[in-house]
Amino acid sequence: MSQSELPFLPFALPEIGEEEIAEVVDTLRSGWVTTGPKARRFEADFAAWLGDPTLHCIAVNSATAGLHLALEALGIGPGDEVITTTHTFTATAEVVRYLGADVKLVDIDPATLNIDIAAIEAAITPRTKALIPVHYAGLAVDMPALLALAKKHGLRVVEDAAHALPSTIGGQLVGTLASDVTVFSFYANKTITTGEGGMLVTRDDTLAARAKVMRLHGMSRDAFDRFTATVPSWYYEIVAPGFKYNLTDIAAALGIHQLKRANAFQHKRTQLAALYNKALAGLPVILPPMPAAGDLHSWHLYVLRLAPGAPITRNALIESLYAAGIGCSVHYIPLHLHPYWRDRYDLSPEQFPHSQAAYEAMLSLPLYTRMDEGDLMRVVTAVRQALGA
Ligand SMILES: *Cc1c(COP(=O)(O)O)cnc(C)c1O
Repeated sequence: MSQSELPFLPFALPEIGEEEIAEVVDTLRSGWVTTGPKARRFEADFAAWLGDPTLHCIAVNSATAGLHLALEALGIGPGDEVITTTHTFTATAEVVRYLGADVKLVDIDPATLNIDIAAIEAAITPRTKALIPVHYAGLAVDMPALLALAKKHGLRVVEDAAHALPSTIGGQLVGTLASDVTVFSFYANKTITTGEGGMLVTRDDTLAARAKVMRLHGMSRDAFDRFTATVPSWYYEIVAPGFKYNLTDIAAALGIHQLKRANAFQHKRTQLAALYNKALAGLPVILPPMPAAGDLHSWHLYVLRLAPGAPITRNALIESLYAAGIGCSVHYIPLHLHPYWRDRYDLSPEQFPHSQAAYEAMLSLPLYTRMDEGDLMRVVTAVRQALGA
């Protein structure tokens, strides 16, 4: 068969097994479909999986919700500035604007594609209150350096770990580091999925208490607490104008079983990334940055960049992959190019030369656990042909 006769190879696909399906069915039959026993179990399992049952793990209906709750609990508001990378999804930055605070975008380090720590330091002003590092593609940010910088300037740190399940830095799992809050995503294309969902992780009792209250309308007790109590328990108090960010038990049922497979998924993704690295070496491309020896990369994304002088453009490469029946994507169109961010903060590409150059050269190839070596070699063949190699 020629490439074009093969079935379309999508950019991403979740891997949902029979255990997940059975758990969802059990939830549906149980009579309790919203936040309840399964969400509690997912939270406890998550803390155990991180290896520290004393961590507060708070299940939410998206990572965006978790980031919003984190910044709210930290007291970020009008007049404050929060620094993050321009090379991310808009969710990382929009939550700052929800609270009326301002976003300071900075450039990336072209070697890692992660936020440039020197650029953070240069962007700090007396208004700066917090940093949001993003573990881009699943390669952990140099957190020891970032946390030292935050400490020096008295800044709070919220990790956007949407890509980083699991990733390590200096052998330590993202989620267990010394930042204030870490937020994971279980969106459909992330390394584990609940359809939509997220997890807010913190060691701080006060932040955890605030996030729990704000997750559900600013209510002093949640519905599960009230309806499962054995004494009359209709009473609750509203202590703040909270949000509706709780994770349903239907979603948590998926999460319980996805989490059990997270390490095996990471292992498979690492193998696929290594195959890509081997098969694409020697082409006019820049292979993805690698973690330090002994550290885990989640390989949420496999980001390839065309080398300077490559015979075709990134857009032409994407078109030829689609013509060969292969889906791919670009992570990300940097925030400084989007009309809202550009106009709000008067941004231009010259302020972010590394992000801009990476964006113009990059594409994300399919990488997911349901791919086999044949699927992967099909992608490699299509890339080689497009490059005339
Ligand atoms: C997916 C993603 C988010 C948002 O996650 P949701 O669970 O969809 O809200 C935030 N930041 C980054 C970097 C992401 O990739």
